Amino acid sequence: MSCFEVVDPLFGAYVLGNAPVKQIATGFDWVEGPVWFGDAGCLLFSDIPNNRILRWSPSAGISIFREPSNFANGNTRDKQGRLLTCEHGTRRVTRTELDGSVTVIADGYGGRRLNSPNDVVVKSDGSIWFSDPHYGIMTDYEGFRAEQELPCHVYRVDPSGEIKAVLTDFAGPNGLAFSPDETRLYVADTGRMFGSDPQHIRVFDVALGGRLSGGEVFCTISPGCADGFRVDSEGNLWSSAADGVHCIAPDGHLMGKILVPELVSNLCFGGRAKHQLFIAATTSIYGITLNRRGAQTP
Ligand code: MG
Repeated sequence: MSCFEVVDPLFGAYVLGNAPVKQIATGFDWVEGPVWFGDAGCLLFSDIPNNRILRWSPSAGISIFREPSNFANGNTRDKQGRLLTCEHGTRRVTRTELDGSVTVIADGYGGRRLNSPNDVVVKSDGSIWFSDPHYGIMTDYEGFRAEQELPCHVYRVDPSGEIKAVLTDFAGPNGLAFSPDETRLYVADTGRMFGSDPQHIRVFDVALGGRLSGGEVFCTISPGCADGFRVDSEGNLWSSAADGVHCIAPDGHLMGKILVPELVSNLCFGGRAKHQLFIAATTSIYGITLNRRGAQTP
């Protein structure tokens, strides 16, 4: 059985007919937030219910990177290569410095605690953008059940440290990514509850200085939802879905799918040429080599 579903014939050139969807590690409970460290030749990812961040490398396999992780979810790197992490348990976003110390980037807004930061990206100007839905405080499964103190916003933290709510009309903001030239910001809305409306990705125009406009629906992911996604160097968006990974063209149409046997949450590009896609899917991490490269943003 092919592991691809071609919708637009052009998608045939994006994938390699003889490259398998390979399970590279398994035995976790709910994995998210993969991020590739090319300098260390390893992948980090969160196993949220088990309160840990794991490390995988082709030569050494799986080891523990951080435990407890404060129920970490999304991860990324900034231009300096530092790890940025969304933590449900402590309701904050942190940066791990090159010496290993941890700096709190954001843990509240207007005197109230954040909900449970979910996913984070860094723009080339050093600003840090993250989503803050309530999912991580709804139950004790992926953090600690607690009162919601703030609406579910998307925030930007400037290099000066100033935090601002920049998107305030989402039910459940989730995955986010910039286009390769950073003129667009894609943000998923996965609804108040998973499985409820809306389930789509919106697109915003990013002006110089970071101001957002627009916000129309870019695409709807079905089946499943756009929990997490990344963009390749040509601007195609590769999103999680219930049946695998969907590749969406810059004009919003579905190019094709990579079929994955477990429910996908997040993914990232990596490998020596950023030509591999690492897919976090429920209990496992899968990898596939593509005929496309990830954008230079992490
Ligand atoms: Mg997410």
